[in-house]
Amino acid sequence: MAFKSDIEIAREANKKPIQEIGDRLGIPTEHLLPYGHDKAKISQPFIDSVQDRKDGKLILVTAINPTPAGEGKTTTTVGLGDGLNKIGKNAMICIREASLGPNFGMKGGAAGGGKAQVVPMEDMNLHFTGDFHAITSAHSLLSAMIDNHIYWGNECDIDLRRVAWRRVVDMNDRALRNVALSLGGVANGFPREGGFDITVASEVMAILCLAKNLKDLEQRLGDMIVAYRRDKSPVFCRDIKAEGAMTVLLKDAMQPNLVQTLENNPAFVHGGPFANIAHGCNSVIATSTALKLADYVVTEAGFGADLGAEKFMDIKCRKAGLRPDAVVIVATVRAMKMNGGVAKADLGAENVQAVKDGCPNLGRHIENMKKFGVPAVVGINHFVTDTDAEVQAVMDFCASLGVEAILNKHWEFGGEGITETAKKVVELCESGEADYHPLYGDDMSLADKIETVCKEIYRADSVVMDNKIRAQLKDWEDQGYGHLPVCLAKTQYSFTTDPTMRGAPTGFDIPVREVRISAGAGFIVVVCGEIMTMPGLPRTPAAESIHLNEDGLIEGLF
Ligand code: ADP
Ligand code: MG
Repeated sequence: MAFKSDIEIAREANKKPIQEIGDRLGIPTEHLLPYGHDKAKISQPFIDSVQDRKDGKLILVTAINPTPAGEGKTTTTVGLGDGLNKIGKNAMICIREASLGPNFGMKGGAAGGGKAQVVPMEDMNLHFTGDFHAITSAHSLLSAMIDNHIYWGNECDIDLRRVAWRRVVDMNDRALRNVALSLGGVANGFPREGGFDITVASEVMAILCLAKNLKDLEQRLGDMIVAYRRDKSPVFCRDIKAEGAMTVLLKDAMQPNLVQTLENNPAFVHGGPFANIAHGCNSVIATSTALKLADYVVTEAGFGADLGAEKFMDIKCRKAGLRPDAVVIVATVRAMKMNGGVAKADLGAENVQAVKDGCPNLGRHIENMKKFGVPAVVGINHFVTDTDAEVQAVMDFCASLGVEAILNKHWEFGGEGITETAKKVVELCESGEADYHPLYGDDMSLADKIETVCKEIYRADSVVMDNKIRAQLKDWEDQGYGHLPVCLAKTQYSFTTDPTMRGAPTGFDIPVREVRISAGAGFIVVVCGEIMTMPGLPRTPAAESIHLNEDGLIEGLF
């Protein structure tokens, strides 16, 4: 049986005018700011007006370690939102916006897949409502103001060799990773080395996603460290006086975007920080507003649960005062097989033993979620090639750990394919079982926080940190940053720092290469292994086959 592509399904969507979706959430027309017919932003006065309402239940969708076989967290998030509505609940979803760069490389879209998508998916994957462009502009304004400050006499005494603020562009462009700035003579400033990251790696993105409101946004922007002096004291964005104008540029980008699923259920799509050097979840303002508008809110964290869910719990929930009620851990038979040692090319053949061999990866994530006090259910995202025996192997494994695993067919059938999980999630939410707490307290030393995550979540034997790194952590503690959570950046493919070590490895160390501070976003970034903040394009980029057809429709995008 042939299946339609994501874009073909999305194009056939029976979309409702966005006002109707807003009506369902009780958003008056004057507070719904339409961007065309099928997208809208929500006004700040409306958000302010619902603050006294009771919160709905919060459900996190996370997953096993990703493999090239694909897991389908977004697809499951969208499907579960539809499934909850299908069983009569008032539910909405919150997901991230897409970065432009990867679309032209090889990654799939960010709107879900099959019958579980948000629409308009082309817009969502391209310019959408312009939020990322606004973030690029705000970031670039600060970049320009820093070099301008240096040009006009460098009153802040910035050490040209220690400018921490890089530039950003929302494109995969490896040629920009390291560049020479201010070349060409006296009129162009003081030559120095610089470089570009992709927009989603900007601290401005992380801040937009953690800020409670525009005031908080401006405060946090001002708190960012942009450079150091010769005596190594920090120069803040505030010293460059950029935070006010940056906030002006970000004014509209701060408002959550409302769209709909293929089944016309409401979805906020807002923000999209990296899940390695940042926390990898949609904005706090979207999630906390959704909790005021719906009884059940389903949201997603990037990468596997070791990175994504840990940061959701330890950074986003801690900072925003959110208390998740249930977790859905997405697993696929294909990914279990890859974790069990099967190559991607051989995934087509039934291999129950490989599924069993891969299951300990899932098992470790299940155990880890318990450490945050939130009950979990495993959602098996069904691929049409899965065999019954393979699915049963995953279910048996989960049963042996005392966790229910449910087979979901939302990709093929939409909300009705995932109602059993929807019912289970409602049961978990209403059981009162959830007792969320972060993994570590604010008061623990930064080094101990790092060690706690590495040992408790990754199951490393030890953390390798040289004295220079320890001294840096100590300095930050002395400067008053010791209460911040840590944001570990490592490969998403493994519990270790080696992407080829699938499954549930033991007997390894986590080497810390570098630590950075995101003083505005409010976390310490701990770089373990090679982390790419400016991706490149593959040999044959997807862009080569993307075009407009004779009817003016986009072809080649997913
Ligand atoms: P994640 O959020 O985990 O990165 P997505 O939900 O975005 O994953 O899915 C990645 C890709 O896999 C999408 O293109 C989607 O269409 C596809 N996909 C997801 N689930 C299924 C499924 N059950 N069968 C076939 N393809 C799927
Ligand atoms: Mg996703």
